[in-house]
Amino acid sequence: MTNDIKTDIVILGAGIAGYAAFKSLSKELKKNNLKKTITLIDQNNYFTFVPLLHEVASGSIEPSHAAVPLKELTYSTPHQYIKATIEKIFPEKNIVQTTVGKISYDYCVVAIGSGVNYFNTKGAKTFSYCVRTLQDAIHLHRSIISKLESCDKEITINVVGGGYTGIEVAGQFSYFANHDLKKLYPNTKIVVNVIQASDKVVPQLPAKAQNKIISQLEKMGVKILFNSKVSEVQEKEITINGKIIPSDFTIWCAGVENIAGHMMDASFCERDRLPVDNFLQHKSYQNLYAIGDIVCGSNQNDTIIYPQIGEAAESQGIYAGKHTICAILKKTIAPFYFKSKGTLMPIGDNYGIIVFPNGWVLSGFFAWWIRRTVYIVFMPGKLRKFKIIVDWTLNLFGFRNMVDIS
Ligand SMILES: Cc1cc2nc3c(=O)[nH]c(=O)nc-3n(C[C@H](O)[C@H](O)[C@H](O)COP(=O)(O)OP(=O)(O)OC[C@H]3O[C@@H](n4cnc5c(N)ncnc54)[C@H](O)[C@@H]3O)c2cc1C
Repeated sequence: MTNDIKTDIVILGAGIAGYAAFKSLSKELKKNNLKKTITLIDQNNYFTFVPLLHEVASGSIEPSHAAVPLKELTYSTPHQYIKATIEKIFPEKNIVQTTVGKISYDYCVVAIGSGVNYFNTKGAKTFSYCVRTLQDAIHLHRSIISKLESCDKEITINVVGGGYTGIEVAGQFSYFANHDLKKLYPNTKIVVNVIQASDKVVPQLPAKAQNKIISQLEKMGVKILFNSKVSEVQEKEITINGKIIPSDFTIWCAGVENIAGHMMDASFCERDRLPVDNFLQHKSYQNLYAIGDIVCGSNQNDTIIYPQIGEAAESQGIYAGKHTICAILKKTIAPFYFKSKGTLMPIGDNYGIIVFPNGWVLSGFFAWWIRRTVYIVFMPGKLRKFKIIVDWTLNLFGFRNMVDIS
């Protein structure tokens, strides 16, 4: 049990944004010879690389390979990691209330991410699976393997949501079904559907990319149900547009829940995210930064809110680290500016889509290979990178992880 502590800089959440902020801050502190301490708080004792979780769920990557223990990050630094759940932030008092006590700070970087939005759909939270955390991905994987051992007829997987996450998840499970599962469980037919409320998949992408996604998924045997709204989820079925269809596994990929209001008074939040200026500082508290999915801000002279993607979270983390040091040294720095380098999407193994900022679309094996390479670069830790490369390489010569330890 930790007693109340005092720290110079506290980082709340060690996901993509918080991890990048820690690395950037610790590097800049060292460079500037500043004797300040960072306290990193997360409810899990590991960093999770969320964009790889659908591969954990399908057995392509060992669960621990998509995570990095946070003690490794603070090891041999003057900084500390504390495992705790953040309960409330009091920016007017410079205090964070956690499950292990109060933390008072000079600077605070909020990076607690987002949750899953079930849009109050009846039964969805209770009966759906999701891939938002490492535990979610492990639970889904174990449940599917366990079901395969007890059923030799048909298993239906309904992926709710035809956005980025839904398409990646559907592609990954369809590939898993068409390859490993087809060989090992030849008597079991696996049906993968995508349930999409609108008449488009990944509506943010150009029509050319959408058409490629649809044709690739169809080629893989995935059925996309357009204009289909899920109104209820039960243990073995779902209701779509008033019609009940079988569903052994409903994987909810339909929305992001903003969670700032869970931690702070509504008066400090906007759209349940934290409103920031062009320097990622909270609009009311300059010593409070918000980064990653929790942030509500936009580039200077722009009104489009920063996207809730890993690429934005990482660059905001790096910037917040640099800005905090400038604030300590009373120096100025140019405003934060986010420009995406492009969208990368895998659809199963061996096929990917890249949409470049100018709208140019690249698809096929090479696009998939680029995506894999980029994610390896993004994944923190040399050892983890190596382990993931080994997982992927071994999958070429054998089967994925299919151990039923449920
Ligand atoms: C399945 C899936 C696939 C995705 N694929 C891509 C992709 O291909 N490319 C891409 O760019 N983006 C992708 N995204 C989006 C991307 O993962 C997020 O935008 C990114 O993780 C946001 O970073 P973050 O640091 O804000 O949040 P996270 O990475 O989610 O980190 C939040 C951290 O805060 C901690 N935390 C939360 N609440 C508390 C609390 N109360 N107390 C203590 N700790 C807490 C969590 O444990 C976690 O470590 C995907 C998302 C999902 C769900």
